Amino acid sequence: MALPTQKRSRSRQKRREYQYRLKKINLTTCPQCKKQTLPHKACIHCGNYKGKIVVNLEKTKKDKKDKKSK
Ligand SMILES: [Zn+2]
Repeated sequence: MALPTQKRSRSRQKRREYQYRLKKINLTTCPQCKKQTLPHKACIHCGNYKGKIVVNLEKTKKDKKDKKSK
C-alpha cells in the first residue's frame, strides 16, 4: 500500500486550507433605505434597484405565508 514519504508541514497544510476560508463579502448602502445590501442586486430590505421598486416585498411575504398555511 502506498504511503506518503514525508510528513506535510503545518505551513503547507495551512496553505492548502487557505482556499477553503470564508471570504469577506462586499456590501454597499441602499440609496433608498440606507441599509447594507449586496451590489448589483435588488435591495433585500425595500426591493429597490436603480431608483425603481423591482420586487414587491410585502406581496412576496404574503405569498410565502399563504404557501406555509396550505
Ligand atoms: Zn433598500
